[in-house]
Amino acid sequence: MHIVTLSFDDGFERSSLRTAEIFERHGLIAELNVVATGHRGEPDETWHTGWPKGDFGLWNELQARGHRVMPHGYRHANKVELPLADAQRLIERCLDVFAAELEGFEPSEASFAFPYNRSTPALEAWLGSQVRAFRTGGDAVMRLPHIGQQRVTCVSFGPARCDDHMVRTVDAFLAGPPGWLCYNLHGLDEEGWGPVGSDTLDRLLERLVGRGVQVLPITDVLDSIAA
Ligand SMILES: [Zn+2]
Repeated sequence: MHIVTLSFDDGFERSSLRTAEIFERHGLIAELNVVATGHRGEPDETWHTGWPKGDFGLWNELQARGHRVMPHGYRHANKVELPLADAQRLIERCLDVFAAELEGFEPSEASFAFPYNRSTPALEAWLGSQVRAFRTGGDAVMRLPHIGQQRVTCVSFGPARCDDHMVRTVDAFLAGPPGWLCYNLHGLDEEGWGPVGSDTLDRLLERLVGRGVQVLPITDVLDSIAA
């Protein structure tokens, strides 16, 4: 069995809508990891400005259509560069905003996507008591999921278009033994860091569905073994 998670970060309004539409075309659920204050102008890193972010009106709409909207930080801080207590405080504020703004949000059922895929062992140990699972940088391919798994590792590619890297990574995975591949994406076409072409994404999903590969968000993968 091969399981593929495509995990989309940063909550660009236009890309998130199009990503959801492309996944729906193939009968799939998209995973969108969004910044709690994204619609209020955070993060303020220069590479993020110029691409409007969605707000919780959009996130609630996409969630109601069946997609997973998950936390990607309060203001997109690189948690490795902060004292542990400060990083914890930001994650708590992020989860508080989600609880207030996103219908039915339960931290214990959520996956947290670390900005920049950067985390520390101390932060991971603490975060495991706050959320269901978390995504950080590491090997793209994991063993098939196990009960109690919280740590999910992924790769990404940028700042240029990631189309070729994504397709090569997925094809190499499918040629290998059973496992779980998590690939981190951002915007579509020209939007965001390391964007993927919507046509490339559409063709990849068509191919994966045609081969019977399971394409699932992180929490759905974990639910599938907990059932
Ligand atoms: Zn991000």
